[in-house]
Amino acid sequence: METLLFLAPAEDALSKNSLEALAATQQLASSLGAAFSVGLWGDDTQASADGLAACGAAKFLAVTGPEFAQARYSTDAAAAEALCRAAAATVVIGPSGSRWNRVLAGVAHRLGGRSDSHVTGLSASGGAPSVSRWFYRQRMEGVLTRTQRPWLLAVESGIAPAWQGAPGTAAVEAVACAPAAPRSKVAGIEALSADQQTIRPDADLLFVSGAGWTKKQPDGQVKTDVAQKLILDFLGLSRASLGSTKSLVDLHGEGQATLTFLSHMNQVGQTGSTPRHPKGLATCCHGEEPHTVGWRFIGERRAISLDPNCGWARGKADVLYVADAFAVMDKVNALLAAK
Ligand SMILES: Cc1cc2nc3c(=O)[nH]c(=O)nc-3n(C[C@H](O)[C@H](O)[C@H](O)COP(=O)(O)OP(=O)(O)OC[C@H]3O[C@@H](n4cnc5c(N)ncnc54)[C@H](O)[C@@H]3O)c2cc1C
Repeated sequence: METLLFLAPAEDALSKNSLEALAATQQLASSLGAAFSVGLWGDDTQASADGLAACGAAKFLAVTGPEFAQARYSTDAAAAEALCRAAAATVVIGPSGSRWNRVLAGVAHRLGGRSDSHVTGLSASGGAPSVSRWFYRQRMEGVLTRTQRPWLLAVESGIAPAWQGAPGTAAVEAVACAPAAPRSKVAGIEALSADQQTIRPDADLLFVSGAGWTKKQPDGQVKTDVAQKLILDFLGLSRASLGSTKSLVDLHGEGQATLTFLSHMNQVGQTGSTPRHPKGLATCCHGEEPHTVGWRFIGERRAISLDPNCGWARGKADVLYVADAFAVMDKVNALLAAK
């Protein structure tokens, strides 16, 4: 019989990504006929445990203390290891995020187990759990099982509806953990303002910009500054997440005029990311990679292109607007602003 543990840093435990992973854990536990516990670590674990009080966990375990508040390999790994041992877990499930992804393999090694990241599905057959993940740049899906335990998993966002339940009062069992004195100290956090941060994983819409925005337009002019304003205005009004084709982000490295707010972090596709948003809108974009691979997990897809023969937009978009993206986005922004 498997023993499941849902594990998350306390500060992140009530995020959408985490609640989705919790729902996937509940589903797996029910398919296996197994119980699951919740393990949290951080400065204030009780508040997060209370938020999850009604999730049906058999136990709530927590490593608590100010030294566990900050993201740091040594303290995160020590806390996760202590929680896995205290729960005697055979399958450990955590939401993909910088903290869990960073310590996952190390903690599995310390426990003599195995780890898998980028998990996009959990299922059970014959009393054994199996996981799905994508290979070859999200082109093939594989389902795998493992005999080694514990099996530590980092679950991608968007694979299950987020768990919802009323907060309550969780009976939290304290787990002792005494990590070695940390050698690194967090002096502060420098984060982009919400408006400068154009990658928004929780957004309903992914807006993909292509190199066409920087190309000579039918009137013979290059209008990169107009493109920049149209896109930034749209992102501000719609709160969409910004993706880009490789051609467009590469222009920057070649010293050509381009959209200054883009970096390779925005790139979607075979050598970029494959984000999960309910909707996608590709603009001025012709490539195969953004349309087929970058959009792999986008629910409803639309494209705006001047090229009526773009096979990728025609073949992969649910709706293709054969139109000038400058004119369309200008109108869309005016409508959004009027709202
Ligand atoms: C190994 C490998 C990996 C790659 N990985 C990736 C990847 O991860 N992601 C990726 O994106 N690419 C990737 N590429 C590159 C990819 O094959 C394409 O070259 C690239 O995606 C094309 O970018 P684009 O569509 O922005 O530009 P273009 O091909 O230049 O297309 C621009 C389009 O904009 C249209 N346009 C111009 N003006 C307007 C306007 N006013 N209104 C509407 N439409 C307009 C044009 O008609 C044209 O169709 C990879 C290539 C290789 C070889």
